[in-house]
Amino acid sequence: MRACIISPLQKIFFEGKVYDFEPVDSLFGGFCDCGGVMTQKGWVDNWLMISECESCWKLEAFLYENYRFVERFEIPSVDLKDFLREILTPLEFEAIVQKANGQSYSYTTFSRAKKKIEEMNLVLDEIIEALRA
Ligand SMILES: [Zn+2]
Repeated sequence: MRACIISPLQKIFFEGKVYDFEPVDSLFGGFCDCGGVMTQKGWVDNWLMISECESCWKLEAFLYENYRFVERFEIPSVDLKDFLREILTPLEFEAIVQKANGQSYSYTTFSRAKKKIEEMNLVLDEIIEALRA
């Protein structure tokens, strides 16, 4: 998977790293394939913009380099649990969930999961908190 929005964390996964995005309100964000008007949802610094179609609710990422538009592509919104299942092994995922629920877990497996999560700039405590809820 190249990119997705991690719901409900409001973070963006893009090419192996996770980024926060700054929400913006009601700015024009281009036109959708369906003919609908798109609205900007937020930016990652000045190089990645997320736009949502007001007609079909499709989300697209707009990529910039040195303020020049490079490309746009559809970006799925993925639930945190599904995202973790994608990047972790089943055992690593299980260890994280067990830890979040206060159950006993394999420490070595958990450590591997923690390393993967932190390497992509996600904050482990936020993940644990979200899984607990
Ligand atoms: Zn549309």
